[in-house]
Amino acid sequence: MADTVHVPFADLHAQYLTIKSDIDAVIADVIRTSAFIRGPYVDKFEAAFADMMNAKHCVSCANGTDSLYIAMHALGVKPGDEVIAPAHSWISTTETITQAGGKVVFCDTDPLTHTIDTSKLAALVTPRTVGVIPVHIYGQPADMDPIMAIAKQHGLWILEDCAQSHLARYKGRLVGTFGNAASFSFYPGKNLGAMGDAGAVTTNDPELAKRMAMFARHGGLTKGDHQIEGINSRLDGLQAAILSVKLPHLPKWTRARQHWANVYTERLSGIPGVSVPAVAEGREPVWHLYVIRHERRDALAAHLKSKGIQTVINYPTALPFLPCYAPMGHKPSDFPNAHRDQSRILSLPIFPEMTEAQIDAVVEAIRSFDGAAA
Ligand SMILES: *Cc1c(COP(=O)(O)O)cnc(C)c1O
Repeated sequence: MADTVHVPFADLHAQYLTIKSDIDAVIADVIRTSAFIRGPYVDKFEAAFADMMNAKHCVSCANGTDSLYIAMHALGVKPGDEVIAPAHSWISTTETITQAGGKVVFCDTDPLTHTIDTSKLAALVTPRTVGVIPVHIYGQPADMDPIMAIAKQHGLWILEDCAQSHLARYKGRLVGTFGNAASFSFYPGKNLGAMGDAGAVTTNDPELAKRMAMFARHGGLTKGDHQIEGINSRLDGLQAAILSVKLPHLPKWTRARQHWANVYTERLSGIPGVSVPAVAEGREPVWHLYVIRHERRDALAAHLKSKGIQTVINYPTALPFLPCYAPMGHKPSDFPNAHRDQSRILSLPIFPEMTEAQIDAVVEAIRSFDGAAA
């Protein structure tokens, strides 16, 4: 029976089992050669990742949050500089603006794609604006054409937050290749996940790449040569080796996510009360998250939980309404879309190794909720 199938939100162990012998072997290799910090595994991953993301340079670092901070530091954010970011994202996107010395300026999200609302972006640009961070949230590409046009018109840099969007495409082109730099997270649950924390920035700008690498490594590219004061943010050898094993599988895993997302959309469309995620023209999402909307979201989540189905809310409070941004004094009407969505969104289980039986269980459980409500 469908309701006896337990469906976890994600299943990292299932993925590990598909590549166990390669992962176990490479971990043993790193230990055997003591290649724990920098070294050949890190170099190899940086080159392979840059290649797959169609970027000239990849600077790896300790996690995705650091990748945003490192990029903004290298882009030259100074006190008083304003950086525009979407009102709905993970906190890393904006806490790093402040960390880099800048001032956060929120832009509402688009009601269909949850990405930054480009119709509201230009009005937020002031003489102090230096850059914009579009987030390809849930793996949905942001609308890059208008964003790049506004950036060009006002001389702004663009830092793409690709933490959830490895291999997503906008009008046929990989996200992360539009802006000055793109930040990536390899947090275990991300589309490309390490077995611990890891992150990277990609760019085609050699000077920017050099400044980022220098800053991430105590301000110097060779030992003892500290050109500037930096930080210590390194991808370690074990994580790099694990990521190199996983990277060639990413296209296949991405197609599996796209397959399951299509199945969900087909089977959930038309269920009363359920809004399936929209895919805008010319965008190829990679479904880090499959996020539906429902007016009775909390009751639906409780119902799914009772049926053994795990869901998550990404994220329950839009950024401007978090306690940490209360001093900015924003009201719901400042960001109506982000505010409306925060109480309606629900992320369903999605991961490449899902089974038909698991999808059936989720779909049936959602159907039975509507039955109960009728
Ligand atoms: C995960 C994530 C980050 C940060 O990545 P970590 O590796 O967890 O530090 C940044 N932005 C977004 C949108 C994310 O989802």
